[in-house]
Amino acid sequence: MDYRALGDYHVHTRYSDGEGEVEECVERAVSLGLFEIGISDHLVPPGLGEAGSYGIAPELLDSYVADVQGAAARHPEIRVLLGVEADYLSEYEHWLRETLCTYPFDYVIGAVHFVGRFAFDNESVPGHPGWPDADAVYRAYYEAVACAARCGLFDVIAHIDYITVWSERPTQDIEAFEDAALEAVAGAGTTIELCTSGILDWPGLMYPSARLLGRAHDLGVPLIIDSDAHEPGQVGLAFDQGVAAARAAGYETTVRLSDRNFVSLPLA
Ligand SMILES: [Zn+2]
Ligand SMILES: [Zn+2]
Repeated sequence: MDYRALGDYHVHTRYSDGEGEVEECVERAVSLGLFEIGISDHLVPPGLGEAGSYGIAPELLDSYVADVQGAAARHPEIRVLLGVEADYLSEYEHWLRETLCTYPFDYVIGAVHFVGRFAFDNESVPGHPGWPDADAVYRAYYEAVACAARCGLFDVIAHIDYITVWSERPTQDIEAFEDAALEAVAGAGTTIELCTSGILDWPGLMYPSARLLGRAHDLGVPLIIDSDAHEPGQVGLAFDQGVAAARAAGYETTVRLSDRNFVSLPLA
């Protein structure tokens, strides 16, 4: 697999819920031959308690930025970008806007990991008792994704159908909710990602589904391929499968975030 056209922009380190150092992730990207790598640890609003404990500790934000910038200076053989994966919760939009202005991020990935205060991907955290049924949770999830796209704070929307990691399934057809969220993304001109590490989650599929990816292509939504690595060895994870899935959906190009150019996807 020829990685030279690709970047991996969704990578976590020990600054949030990843296991490795920034340096190790960059070295892995260099060994694969990636064109560039972006580090994107979690930025989580304050006040979410245990459910939000996976974010960068506020007192470590300066070190995070300095560490990524230091790696960039030490590795002229690859571009190292300073990113962040910021949680979108509508009531924290003002906080997020202020926080993002404080740091020189090259790009911001927006993610919905909560529906209201319900952390649907962490069932060890008590669920929100206010949801009447699974259908309401799915609907609210996709409405939050649409709001995230429209708020204008994000360059990329993460794992757009991440709600499928939840153990509950909707009882009604949710394609209309999915499509409405995707249309909001398209209308906002935001990029989405094909998130390869979905193959490590239950039920073992990349995000988004083949149907949504094809729909995204038809709507003209730009695409990047990301690992969402949580350890250095996962940088570039299954990118051959990601490229094949993107091509099957009709994509021939990906976006390079350092200069926002479209570059050809390699032939997997
Ligand atoms: Zn995420
Ligand atoms: Zn992530």
